[in-house]
Amino acid sequence: MHLILLGAPGAGKGTQGALLAEHLEVPKIATGDILRDAVREGTELGQSAKRFMDAGELVPDEVILGLVRDALAAPAAANGAIFDGFPRTIPQAEALSEILMELGRDLDVVVVIDVADDVIVQRMSGRRTDPETGKVYHLSFNPPPAAVVDRLVQRDDDRENTVRRRLAVYRETTAPLVDFYVERGLPIEHVRGDRPIEEVQAELVQRIGR
Ligand code: AMP
Repeated sequence: MHLILLGAPGAGKGTQGALLAEHLEVPKIATGDILRDAVREGTELGQSAKRFMDAGELVPDEVILGLVRDALAAPAAANGAIFDGFPRTIPQAEALSEILMELGRDLDVVVVIDVADDVIVQRMSGRRTDPETGKVYHLSFNPPPAAVVDRLVQRDDDRENTVRRRLAVYRETTAPLVDFYVERGLPIEHVRGDRPIEEVQAELVQRIGR
């Protein structure tokens, strides 16, 4: 199963993708997570990606494609993957098709999580990550356990100005991928993401029929 999760930043791709990955027993390939790990580790990749990320801009396609190629070639991804935050541009989508073709695999479905912009901005301002477990919480909608509250951190790019830029980049550059995949005849499933996590997940599992 190769599934693409599309949706604005903060729509819930990470949360839903992690649950789906567990359900389908395939890894989640989240380019944003891979980049944040690289930034934390201070690698060359991390250093070059950080300035794009902090500005809410996209990291160049060739950098991203190298990461995805490696992740897909890993034994863990032999039976498929959930793509979260990738592809984000038409050239990335074209390259993904080529990479999969080389591996003798194919995309199965595109899931779009729809959430209005004002809800997104509200969500991102309350989003916090536990640096020890990588778990993501929301101070109001998915409250963290008391034991971890003090160590939670806010992503640098979740500040309001950067969120607005990331949303604009999503609308301009990534949202057109929906039409791109419609034109290629791939099944597209839209789900409304402004509902409780469990409800969205249940609908997703039902829609993809697995
Ligand atoms: P995310 O965690 O998916 O919201 O990604 C955080 C940031 O990482 C984005 O705002 C981009 O700067 C960068 N990034 C993540 N995935 C991609 C991608 N597929 N293409 C370009 N930049 C990306």
